[in-house]
Amino acid sequence: MENLQVGSCKGVKGEKTKGHLEINLDSLKIKIPVFIISGVKDGPTAFISAGMHGDEVNGIHIVKKIKESITPESLSGRLVIVPVVNTLGFKESKRTVPLDDQDLNRQFNKNNPKTASELIAHAFFEEVVRKCDFGIDCHDSNAENILLPHSRVLSRKEAPEIAELSRIFGTDLILEREGKEGMLAIEAYREYKIPVLTVEIGGGVKVWDKYVLEGIRGIKNVLIYKKMLNGLIDVPIRQFVLDYRYGYKAPFSGILDVKIELGDAVNEGEIIATLYDPENDREKEIKAEHPGVVFSVRLKSKIDADEVMFSVLHFKQDKNEMHALNAEMILNKEVLQSIIVRPTKVLDTFLAIFDSSYSLIDNVIGDRLEKIKKYFKK
Ligand SMILES: [Zn+2]
Repeated sequence: MENLQVGSCKGVKGEKTKGHLEINLDSLKIKIPVFIISGVKDGPTAFISAGMHGDEVNGIHIVKKIKESITPESLSGRLVIVPVVNTLGFKESKRTVPLDDQDLNRQFNKNNPKTASELIAHAFFEEVVRKCDFGIDCHDSNAENILLPHSRVLSRKEAPEIAELSRIFGTDLILEREGKEGMLAIEAYREYKIPVLTVEIGGGVKVWDKYVLEGIRGIKNVLIYKKMLNGLIDVPIRQFVLDYRYGYKAPFSGILDVKIELGDAVNEGEIIATLYDPENDREKEIKAEHPGVVFSVRLKSKIDADEVMFSVLHFKQDKNEMHALNAEMILNKEVLQSIIVRPTKVLDTFLAIFDSSYSLIDNVIGDRLEKIKKYFKK
């Protein structure tokens, strides 16, 4: 393999090296830390990044753990690690690049990069992304909300390589969306056909250890799949692909009191939250429209009208069959060979409210898979 260099960071076979990507602006010099882990064996080159949005802390934590746990001896190929892309935003706990207040994840592949955020995006695109075969960009759901861990993909038809990475990453949920002009994942695929998987883990400017572990497992799954690491891939038996349009929106502004926790199962008609408007002294109970599993929750209690309070992955029971509404269920058992399949967490939680014989502490995977199959014929 030829030597890889990213900014001042030189890859050296069998070593972990560090350096910086430097961007010279008129007023200041920006330094983005870069690490390269160069495996003792040859293989693909991939990047793992986080902190594109300066107020998203979980990705940074995941990337740090990955950097610490992967050794050159265990790696085939090269891993470029960028723990915080938007260094200035991170310093100020801001989503955007403070110099021009723009979202860095809308500035990729611009024709004539001039502004601070365009120049940072350009440097990352050309120095990191372009030198890699694929990448994983870690985000979290922002300061005000938290979502169950999930990956985000472009149209599965148009970008099947990204969809493939999302299956292997192995979260229960996958969000499919068109994406917006200037997003890293869109532009890397459009310009260079480099698949970049966007993952969203945790939120609320707080590190969530259990979700961080899911992120680490997902990244390792992908690296194992790409034959960069040894090990077993661990994915759920079924995954749900949804588009993110089905949030319950606040009917008026007020104080939101959420009664459930992220990942909880709810029955139809169950009160999920109450909303109180102190100015007009009115209160409303917000009930689940269908049974399902709560996959996003607002963490900030003050809410404005039309903001999303929470989202539920709804299910519907037809005779003896259960199916997800507004989400496509995909089965992994037949499709993916030589991997471990585990029961889907959202299904486990959900089925427990329908079937008292369905036990959450039942550790016999085969047994649980049979039960899941019974409900989810397809
Ligand atoms: Zn983000």
